[in-house]
Amino acid sequence: MTYLATRMSVVGASPTAAISDTLRRLSAEGHSVINLGEGELDFATPSHVCEAGIAAICAGQTKYTAVSGTAELKAAIARKFARENGIDVPVSRIIAGAGAKQLIFNALLATIDAGDEVLVPAPYWVSYPDMVRLTGGVPVIVQTTPDAGWKLTPEALAQALTPRTKWVILNSPNNPTGAVYSQAELQALGRVLADHDALIMADDIYEHMVQEDPFVAPASALPDLADRILTINGVSKGYSMTGWRLGYATGPEALIKAMDILQSQSTSNASTISQAAAIAALDGDLGFMSDWRASLKARRDLLLAAIARIPGLSSDVPPGAFYVFADCSGLIGATRADGTVLESDVDVGAYLVSEAHVGVVPGTAFGTPGYLRLAYAVDDALLSEAVDRIAATVARLT
Ligand code: PLP
Repeated sequence: MTYLATRMSVVGASPTAAISDTLRRLSAEGHSVINLGEGELDFATPSHVCEAGIAAICAGQTKYTAVSGTAELKAAIARKFARENGIDVPVSRIIAGAGAKQLIFNALLATIDAGDEVLVPAPYWVSYPDMVRLTGGVPVIVQTTPDAGWKLTPEALAQALTPRTKWVILNSPNNPTGAVYSQAELQALGRVLADHDALIMADDIYEHMVQEDPFVAPASALPDLADRILTINGVSKGYSMTGWRLGYATGPEALIKAMDILQSQSTSNASTISQAAAIAALDGDLGFMSDWRASLKARRDLLLAAIARIPGLSSDVPPGAFYVFADCSGLIGATRADGTVLESDVDVGAYLVSEAHVGVVPGTAFGTPGYLRLAYAVDDALLSEAVDRIAATVARLT
């Protein structure tokens, strides 16, 4: 007898698990390991945000709150949406939870019936397809291409929509490619979506991590579709607060209410300490972010220059997020010193982990084989060391 529910059979083991296991083992054996696989900034959470969290503990803000968050937090989120994104929403259409991830999962769980389709442009954030499967839906993967800037085109969208499409997921800036949709591109997608009644999930979690292109929130670019756009955001990426677990969303009132009900019967409110810290983050001065962006741009350019010098690897300039999605197809078919052949991006990733002790994530994990995702949100010296090691390790291939 198996104790696991049948729904567990639809969730794939993470393609990155083997790499993480190897990194952990190598580190335990005393090797110096550099992980370019993690999706988080190495910057400290800003001190005024930490202080607000500490003050909340000292002031006894340590008890249950409303499931969707305190009135103060929801007011701060409403101010943020209006000020930064041009989205005007009442607090009744706002919910906070334990990370954007939880809100995305609850939104899907609240809306998907067996067999409903969710359009997921690839490369995609690893969790979308598995979440869709867990809720009984069918992820319909729409492959984007580097020629189209890794963006969903109106033609591809029109072709993939069916009467069963419940959601279309838009993630700009994109993890893993860094693609950022312009206002005109969003409006072109909006014209296709206007003839359909699918919900639109705008995952804006990397909004502050933009270099060349400005961020445009789908909800502000598509006001006519506002009654079916769920905007997902959180403090994890923009404020370097991944561990605080605080995400928020705004969308149609009935959907927000349903997400509130699910949250009330599962995890309840997000941590009160994180809620207080998030108010300080959202209301506070964003001056520090230009320094972060400048530092990220320098790291990105260092990584891109190194990749350009490594035969077999190449990359376009990613305009947002903090990842480089490098084409590694030139290394597939190469032979290691032990005589084994690298058959895939997964093999290339495993080779870099075992020989260079550098963690990267193969494109297969994001639905797009033949690529590697390298996160450049690590300190400059480590990044330089990582690229030197990658170059030396690749040079040993024949
Ligand atoms: N959406 C995308 C595209 C992400 O890359 C991530 C985290 O990696 C999340 C959502 C989840 O963010 P959170 O930490 O708020 O759960």
